[in-house]
Amino acid sequence: MQGLHDEEFRKTDCLKCANCCKTTGPLFTDKDVDRISKHFRMKTKQFVNQYLRIDEDNDYVLQSVPCTFLGADNYCSIYEVRPKACREFPHTDRNKFQQISNLTLKNVAICPAAFNIVEEMKKKIKF
Ligand code: SF4
Ligand code: SF4
Repeated sequence: MQGLHDEEFRKTDCLKCANCCKTTGPLFTDKDVDRISKHFRMKTKQFVNQYLRIDEDNDYVLQSVPCTFLGADNYCSIYEVRPKACREFPHTDRNKFQQISNLTLKNVAICPAAFNIVEEMKKKIKF
């Protein structure tokens, strides 16, 4: 999977896509909230009130999509401090990739790179 992931992302230009940032938001861990609040020199509570809500699984998520931190040029305005989930999306280079197949099924509908990686994987295992 690591090889397929690397090969796909050598040719994928996320700046021409940004579909993940436009259609789904990341989860924000407490560490993410702390780091990004500091970046804005805001109190965490203020940051949460302004940008986040708690979803049905009790996780912090964005109040709305497209992500409020996404620029018109598809650049992330908080790239250096972005949530861990953003750094890891679409998770196709995860060590135990087979354990997140439900998540991957959702992600192939959002992410063209994940779709291509899974299609290549299917060819390799003659699925
Ligand atoms: S949806 Fe996939 S290809 Fe598009 S920007 Fe996100 S990670 Fe990149
Ligand atoms: S924080 Fe940045 S990388 Fe994450 S969804 Fe928003 S714009 Fe995209």
